[in-house]
Amino acid sequence: MTYQCPRCSTRVKDWNGDDPICGFDENGNFLENNWMCATLNALREMGGEEVWCDDTYMKIVSRFDVGHGILSWYKHRGRTDDFRNGYFERGTLYYAQQLLGDVEPKVYTDWANFTDDDDD
Ligand SMILES: [Zn+2]
Repeated sequence: MTYQCPRCSTRVKDWNGDDPICGFDENGNFLENNWMCATLNALREMGGEEVWCDDTYMKIVSRFDVGHGILSWYKHRGRTDDFRNGYFERGTLYYAQQLLGDVEPKVYTDWANFTDDDDD
């Protein structure tokens, strides 16, 4: 059985057509061969800037305490062609979950562990 992200594994299929293919592997890396991944779809539905060009949507979602996520997909299809972070690096499940608020943004953990002992 292939990996499913938490949102995919708890979702009930409510559409006719192909079964979903999660957009992440077991290491949390984005996979281009995806279909109706619940996490990617939730990102696509987040508020944000959306650009339509040559039948392809490009969308930038952001949270001030996480950063930017960049997604692209063709028309209204279930496949998300690309998911990257604000530095155009390949997106990860962990990054997606921070953008969606499914997990606490990393910055707060980093801040809790931050020490300025050397700063004297
Ligand atoms: Zn998924």
